[in-house]
Amino acid sequence: MQFDVVIVGGGHGGAQVAVMLRTQKFEGSIAIIGEEPELPYERPPLSKEYFAGEKSFERIQIRPAKYWEERSVTMLLGRRVVGVDPAAHQVTTADGTVIGYGKLVWATGGTPRMLPVPGADLPGVQGVRTRADADAMKAASDTARQIVVIGGGYIGLEAAAVLTKAGKKVVLLEAQPRVLARVAGEELSRFFEQEHRAHGVDIRLGVGISALEGDGHVTGIRLSDGEVIPADLVIVGIGIVPAVEPLLAAGAEGGNGVRVDPLCKTSLPDIYAIGDCAEHVNDFADGAHIRLESVQNANDQANVVAKGICGAEAPYHAIPWFWSNQYDLKLQTAGLSGGHDATVLRGDPATRSFSILYLKAGRVIALDCVNATRDYVQGRMAVTAGLMAPREQLADVATPLKALLPAA
Ligand code: FAD
Repeated sequence: MQFDVVIVGGGHGGAQVAVMLRTQKFEGSIAIIGEEPELPYERPPLSKEYFAGEKSFERIQIRPAKYWEERSVTMLLGRRVVGVDPAAHQVTTADGTVIGYGKLVWATGGTPRMLPVPGADLPGVQGVRTRADADAMKAASDTARQIVVIGGGYIGLEAAAVLTKAGKKVVLLEAQPRVLARVAGEELSRFFEQEHRAHGVDIRLGVGISALEGDGHVTGIRLSDGEVIPADLVIVGIGIVPAVEPLLAAGAEGGNGVRVDPLCKTSLPDIYAIGDCAEHVNDFADGAHIRLESVQNANDQANVVAKGICGAEAPYHAIPWFWSNQYDLKLQTAGLSGGHDATVLRGDPATRSFSILYLKAGRVIALDCVNATRDYVQGRMAVTAGLMAPREQLADVATPLKALLPAA
C-alpha cells in the first residue's frame, strides 16, 4: 500500500488534516491509520454528554461514513502503527503490514497516565480517553456503589459532575492543594471546589495515594496516611502520556512528546506531528515549547499541516481556547494563564456568572469565563491585542471588554 499522505491517528487532528486537504482541493491519495475501530469522533463528550447518555455515538462522529467515502479518504482502522522508517518513507502496523507514504502526519494523541502505585491496573480502575473507556466507565458506574475519581483536572471534575447528577455518591481525590491547579488560578479552583461540594462531591485535596487495593477487582484506595477509602469503581484522570514511541525510535527529536517547528514539521523529513502529542513553539506561551491538549490546538495544527502540504505554508499562530461543562456551568478559557502575576475578578462568583482575567506585566494574557460568553468572545480579542487597561475598568462588568480595546 502506498499513499501520498498517510495520517497516523484518526482523532480530532488526524480527521481535520484529511478534511482540510480535501477542502484545499488536494487530489492525492490519503489514508488514515487508526488504532481505534471507530471512524473519527469527538472526544470531549466522552466525559460530558456521551457519558451522561444525552448524546448518541452517531451524534459525536466528526463526519459520517459517507463523507470519507465520497472524498476518497481510505480508513485503515483497528490498526496500530508500531514502526516508522523515515528513509524508506514507510510505516509498519502491528500486523506486519508495510504502508508507504509521501508525507506522514503523526496525530496519535496520548494514553491515560497510570497511577504509579501497586494495584493501578486492577479491574475496576478506569482511564478515560476512548469511546471504549467511556462505555466501560458508564457500564461500571450504573452498578457501582462507591465511586472514587482520582484527579481534579477537567476530566475528573466533568466525570464527577455527570455521576453526581445521576445520583451517585462520588469521592474525588486530588494530590495538589486545589483542583485545576495546573491550568487555572486559585479563585477559579475554589469556585469549582465549592460547586462540587454543594452538589455532594466529597473532594479531598492534597492527598497522596499509596496503593489501590483489591483481589481480582478494586475494593479501595489506600491513602498515604493509612486511611482506606472503599471503591468498586475508580476513575483515573491524571493526564496523558504522548503516544510517540515509534517516532522517537525512528530518530525524531522529542522531549515531552515529539518536537515540531512552527510549521508542525518534526526533525525527520516529510514527517509532521500535531495535536496532543506535538511539543510546539507557542506564541501565547512566550515562545516556549509546550504541548496543548485541546481540540482547538489539534484542529489548528491540522490546518497548518494541510495547507503546508498544499504549498501554502503559514506558521502556527492561534490563540489557545478551551471549554468545560460541569452541571449548569459553562467554563470557557482563552489564552494561557501560566506565568501571570495578577488576576482581576470581573463579576460576582455568587451569581455564577463571572470572569477571571490573568495579567502579566499589566497585559491581559488569558481569561477564564464562567457562564459569561460575551466576556469570552471579547476576551479573545483582548488577549490577541495584549490589552492593557486600568484594573477598575477591567473589573467593571458594565464596561464591555471590547470598549477597552484600542481602536482598530
Ligand atoms: P486524539 O483525538 O486522541 O486522537 C489520537 C488517535 O490516534 C486515537 O484514536 C488513538 O487511538 C490513535 N493512535 C494512537 N497511537 C496510534 C498508533 N501508534 N497507530 C495508530 N493509531 C494510533 N479538549 C477540549 O478542547 N475541550 C474539552 O472539553 C475536552 N474534553 C475532553 C474530554 C475527554 C474525556 C478527553 C479524553 C479529552 C478532552 N479534550 C478536550 C481533549 C481533546 O479531546 C484532545 O485535545 C484532542 O482529542 C486531541 O486530538 P489529537 O488528534 O491530538 O488526539
